[in-house]
Amino acid sequence: MSLSTHYKETEMLSVKLMTSIKDLLNDVDGEKRYKEPLSLHTSFRVGGNADVLFFPKDEASLVLAVRISNENDVPIFILGNGSNLLVRDGGIQGMVISLKKMEGNIEINPGTHETFLVVSPAGTSMPALVRYAVDKGLEGLETLIGVPGTLGGALKMNAGAQGKDIGDIFHSVRMLNMKGEVKEFMKNEVRFHYRGTEFPEKGIFLEAILELKKGNKDALSQKVKILLEKRNTSQPITQKGAGSIFKNPKGHYAGQLIEEAGLKSFSIGDAEVSPKHANFIINRGKAKARDIEELIKVIQEKVMVKAGISLKPEIEIAGER
Ligand SMILES: Cc1cc2nc3c(=O)[nH]c(=O)nc-3n(C[C@H](O)[C@H](O)[C@H](O)COP(=O)(O)OP(=O)(O)OC[C@H]3O[C@@H](n4cnc5c(N)ncnc54)[C@H](O)[C@@H]3O)c2cc1C
Repeated sequence: MSLSTHYKETEMLSVKLMTSIKDLLNDVDGEKRYKEPLSLHTSFRVGGNADVLFFPKDEASLVLAVRISNENDVPIFILGNGSNLLVRDGGIQGMVISLKKMEGNIEINPGTHETFLVVSPAGTSMPALVRYAVDKGLEGLETLIGVPGTLGGALKMNAGAQGKDIGDIFHSVRMLNMKGEVKEFMKNEVRFHYRGTEFPEKGIFLEAILELKKGNKDALSQKVKILLEKRNTSQPITQKGAGSIFKNPKGHYAGQLIEEAGLKSFSIGDAEVSPKHANFIINRGKAKARDIEELIKVIQEKVMVKAGISLKPEIEIAGER
């Protein structure tokens, strides 16, 4: 199939889907943005449109949307804060769902063994959750202060820093499976590994419980401050990017391998290997997703030639070319 035929078919599918999604979501509560540029919702600031970006009002409207999309074969993509995502220039077909505007509050309940159970909606921002816990004098989340995602995204990625991952403090999760049924999974049912997790079923995290210890509020605040300062000096956190692009291969640092391959500051279009930290790619302003994807390939090839090591992306690439 020629590329133009492919694009025409994709476009037609998109128009057809859009019309039916609009009708189908008519009676579902929440905000619907049609043909929404995903570049507005990813930290790379690139990516084409979502046919619809849906912000469910509450759990009931999310359940309804998932059931409707199931019955009508509308694909679903869950968006957290878009901080680990490269959305391609052709966008994402079907329904992109964000839980950021869903009703819900953070709660703290007593746990066993003098611990505290922090119950939080999955759409909560991680830095906000960390600050909430620190403010209550609860210890265990501080190292995640620099992870600019949502709790849901952190769970999917088993986000971590300073040798601690969210899996270390995970207690349980409530999840909506793709049939629209709510399930609960405890720690012993989930496998956490380096930047990834395996749950018994695929689905949308609704709410998670994290188990924290009592700590000293002032000491925790100080720790958070130091961690943020450290990050600011070593990573390009104020620029458009998605954190570490590649996972560290066993016994190596991806950033060091990229630097040794002579790629620091190397660029394609406006996509550049950060001069500050070689495992970060930054969008200098007008980068396209295809520039970033191309740069990722070049890095993989050059590191393979130089070091014989295959770099695996940590970021997720989604959508249509
Ligand atoms: C400056 C910067 C620094 C970073 N530093 C770190 C770091 O130190 N450590 C680290 O681990 N990561 C880091 N990251 C990467 C990123 O912030 C994390 O991977 C984060 O956990 C992604 O969360 P998100 O909400 O942005 O998810 P997204 O990028 O939106 O999505 C990531 C995946 O999670 C899925 N997802 C999101 N929400 C849900 C949900 N409710 N239910 C089911 N699936 C869901 C998405 O479908 C997708 O598959 C950094 C990123 C940046 C930009």
